[in-house]
Amino acid sequence: MIRINPANIGMEGEHLSGEEDAALLDLSTFPQKIAPKSAVKYDLHASLAGKDLIVTGSAKVLLLSECAVCLDETEYLLAKKDICIHVENIPMDNFYDLTDEVRENLLLSMPMRIKCKEDCKGLCLSCGANLNKEKCTCKKSRKTAVKTENTANGEKTDWSALDQLKF
Ligand SMILES: [Zn+2]
Ligand SMILES: [Zn+2]
Repeated sequence: MIRINPANIGMEGEHLSGEEDAALLDLSTFPQKIAPKSAVKYDLHASLAGKDLIVTGSAKVLLLSECAVCLDETEYLLAKKDICIHVENIPMDNFYDLTDEVRENLLLSMPMRIKCKEDCKGLCLSCGANLNKEKCTCKKSRKTAVKTENTANGEKTDWSALDQLKF
């Protein structure tokens, strides 16, 4: 739990940093297979504004995920730099648990799809080869097929083909 005692926050605010077990993230709801590879590290600054608690700072966790495109295992650093938590009318007589807010902040910066790299080439649809690592032969024939398609796509080519039929 990431807890703060509002009664202890001085004029300068209170610095709060440490690590939490990444199990708190609960990544099971994500469609991709994702597991934490490090603890959640947080570095926060808490201050009081009247009766309200303001917490700013950052949190990060290293994740191990399958690439959404090539399914290869890849590391992803999930980091939230501009956490801003605002709790109105903070009860001063008890510890306040910031864990849920930190979790939400981190999960909100989760990308829709984690990829091993921006230009991941993915898998060959015919033979399943990982095209980041190897060049398969079906890719070659597919390329040639695409080329022929492109040249045959123009109207001119279509008409000339018709002409050829007529003659
Ligand atoms: Zn990939
Ligand atoms: Zn292939």
